[in-house]
Amino acid sequence: MISTGLQTAAYILASILFILSLGGLASQESAKRGVIYGIVGMFIAILSTLLGSGVSGHIYIIVAIAIASLIGMMVARKVEMTSMPQLVAILHSFVGLAAVLVGFGSYLDPHTNELLGSERTIHLVEVFIGVFIGAVTFTGSIIAWGKLEGKIMSKPLAYKGRHAVNIVLVLVSIGLGIQFGMASGTEGLTSLYIMTAIAAFIGVMLVMAIGGADMPVVVSMLNSYSGWAAAAAGFMLGNDLLIVTGALVGSSGAILSIIMCEAMNRSFLSVIFGGFGNASSLASKEMEGEVTSISHAEAAKLIDMANSIVIVPGYGMAVAKAQYPVFELVQLLTSLGKKVRFGIHPVAGRLPGHMNVLLAEASVPYDIVMEMDEINPDLPQTDVVMVIGANDIVNPAALEDEGSPIYGMPVIEVWNARRVIVMKRSMAAGYAGIENPLFYKENADMLYGDAKESVLAIVHELKSL
Ligand code: NDP
Repeated sequence: MISTGLQTAAYILASILFILSLGGLASQESAKRGVIYGIVGMFIAILSTLLGSGVSGHIYIIVAIAIASLIGMMVARKVEMTSMPQLVAILHSFVGLAAVLVGFGSYLDPHTNELLGSERTIHLVEVFIGVFIGAVTFTGSIIAWGKLEGKIMSKPLAYKGRHAVNIVLVLVSIGLGIQFGMASGTEGLTSLYIMTAIAAFIGVMLVMAIGGADMPVVVSMLNSYSGWAAAAAGFMLGNDLLIVTGALVGSSGAILSIIMCEAMNRSFLSVIFGGFGNASSLASKEMEGEVTSISHAEAAKLIDMANSIVIVPGYGMAVAKAQYPVFELVQLLTSLGKKVRFGIHPVAGRLPGHMNVLLAEASVPYDIVMEMDEINPDLPQTDVVMVIGANDIVNPAALEDEGSPIYGMPVIEVWNARRVIVMKRSMAAGYAGIENPLFYKENADMLYGDAKESVLAIVHELKSL
């Protein structure tokens, strides 16, 4: 058992480590250090909580931690990089569920009944809000998991008047909250149950109403909600460290959501309220032009003739695990005296920074990895753009077609280059489920096949030229 003073000191140290961890995660060079700060911080946090006063049943807690750590390690080892967003979404749902359970547990705790006056009221408000946020996070995250896993359609499910329904449901919840606060003993349990069901329904409807292309914002937004749910649990348990940690996650998730919204030219409110006002009444344009395809040998010739080459990777590169051969191609082209750079869209792949992580994994130097805003102005002077497994992030409909669901989202304007080689397996749509007029442009050629096999074939062809 440690003294309260020592526990407070440990909590402050853990909080500092969490802040340093978030700071470290801001850049690729310091990300590893950031993760280590986070691990050490969490270790201190768990240990000092376990050894603190008021904690009993250590053996159960240790067994539970051991089993959970084992499951966590096994899942993390097994999970494919492309399935990471689903994992994150399902982990968020656990935080939400934990907040709901803590809320119910705390309400039924005999100590709660001993509280009097304003102290009891404050605690009941904490419980009610905590359970509400937790339930929204829980079901919202499960729906997000389903959408990312492809088990639930990515098209937005929106019915007329849903915003009015949501507002009425929130008002009913407030009414239930008042009833809950005034009930004596545990008589407010029925109100708590009904509100939990309503909040769970709101969570489902909020995420169901969000379209495929807006999912990155939903993932970061649920991350933020899970932080607030944890902070709410911290208030209920009277644990300062949980409040601080929850607030850090909640606010950093909210900041990330805003950054993602800006990158996608979406209004934050329109995304969090499920497509508020961004549903277009116009029909999407018909495709014009012809699709042309080339062979690996022809692609290699085009690349061989080019002086400047830009590679735009997307989700397909992650699926094919093509980052290693892509780097081999880059090294080969650089040794031939060509200028090769990468153009990275902020929502390429399935999680923020997905492409940067893959390229770093393959040891691609950071100085040739450009962001969308840096690469777009250079594209008209670029000889060849290789689009590797990307689709939505290079879709001209975002700029040209007012009826498109992704209209207004900034994209990498690859069609401004002299030639574009689109490397994917078929004409299939991307995550947003919409057609891509890029494939029909005169200066674009399709190179069908798995991204990894295609890149390896091009390397082979280039070497034999
Ligand atoms: P897309 O999902 O738009 O397109 C990927 C393309 O890759 C597909 O059209 C597919 O075509 C192709 N592909 C799949 N497997 C392979 C393979 N083995 N080899 C070659 N090609 C392959 O991905 P983008 O990266 O362009 O865009 C990301 C999308 O995901 C955006 O809509 C974004 O909003 C959304 N999103 C992003 C998140 C994030 O945080 N980054 C989170 C959630 C969603 P084919 O089947 O013909 O091969």
